[in-house]
Amino acid sequence: MKAWTKFSLLLTLLIWLVLNYSSALGLGYPQKIRVLIHSDKNHLTINSFDNKIKAFHYPDRKFINTFPEETPINCCSSPLGIKIGEHDIQTDLILLVAFDKSALQVENRWYRGGIIIHKKKNFHLEVINELDLELYLQGIMKQEISPQWPEAALKAQAIVARSYALFEKQRNLDSLYDLKSTTESQAYRGIAGEDPLTNQAIEDTRNLILTIDEQPLCTFYHACCGGHTESAHNVFGNYPGLPGVVCEFCQDSPYYNWEKPFSNIQIRNYLLRSEMKVGPIKSLRAIGKTFSGRIPKLRFKHELGNITMTAKKFRQMIGYNQLPSLLFTIEKIQKEKKTGEEAEKKKGKNYDLEITFNFIGRGWGHGVGLCQWGSKKMAEEGFTYEEILHKYYPLAALSEAE
Ligand SMILES: [Zn+2]
Repeated sequence: MKAWTKFSLLLTLLIWLVLNYSSALGLGYPQKIRVLIHSDKNHLTINSFDNKIKAFHYPDRKFINTFPEETPINCCSSPLGIKIGEHDIQTDLILLVAFDKSALQVENRWYRGGIIIHKKKNFHLEVINELDLELYLQGIMKQEISPQWPEAALKAQAIVARSYALFEKQRNLDSLYDLKSTTESQAYRGIAGEDPLTNQAIEDTRNLILTIDEQPLCTFYHACCGGHTESAHNVFGNYPGLPGVVCEFCQDSPYYNWEKPFSNIQIRNYLLRSEMKVGPIKSLRAIGKTFSGRIPKLRFKHELGNITMTAKKFRQMIGYNQLPSLLFTIEKIQKEKKTGEEAEKKKGKNYDLEITFNFIGRGWGHGVGLCQWGSKKMAEEGFTYEEILHKYYPLAALSEAE
């Protein structure tokens, strides 16, 4: 029997075990998700299709009034509470729902479900969109994956996004919202983010989530792992059930190989920008290496001393596009500055050197969990979404969140 066939049979058996040990979780379904869509506004413009908006106290949902006004209406804070159009309501938290329950427009974007407005202590407004989990998923998928990718990859992504949302919901029970609408959580665009192809993948996998110890798994995911995913422990700390695995599927990604050269002056400027006391940079070294090959720490030697920092912090500091992943090696290239005078050189004076640190790396993102480009390739090669999920989350079970 060929090794590949053996592997396939083993995989099928494992998936069977995974599926048969999974069970309904009793989480209650469909769940409501609360997404922060604005964190600091002085006033808001709110619109509905039928010109009528209902207001409720929040969180007890006691009915306040229906406002039969000409929309859009303006909303701002007042000394008493929150002002909706001409109505000044004594509250710091209000829930608005379209009379026909369809959708509300906040500023220039339409959202399904309800809109919670929170008057903060500084009188500014925080805006949260509360809606069914499945509708929330519709509003994020297109931002996280191309709807043109193969069906199994879309289904795997839907399950991963659903699990992540439920994990965050359980973690944020005491907070006013579960997730942000930015890439810090998952990029959410309301109705504008929807697409028939991704909606179908959500519908086809309805209720399915990945779990560990019968709880939603924190299903981190990223664009491209560069050949080996990373253990969550090395990036985010204590998240059980997320080991690093070999990935032989993401070589087609435009991010599989990359090179990013930085001059010593650029590196110094990055460090100065974060208010570090730093002289001209003389050397830069990677310290250690994780099991997957990623760099945990960097040491900068400069004319006033040394700085050691985590590579994760450095990547955050210079921008994620500048340093696509932590799976890299550093090559130092040293050249004499062209402006150096030959005469001075002969006198044996010190010369300024043009130093470039060339980061040669693979992959895009933190590397934990599902590798999206790997998932795409697996789907193209005929693997099912169950097989894709089992590949990147080998310790998780596929369960029904009901
Ligand atoms: Zn990969």
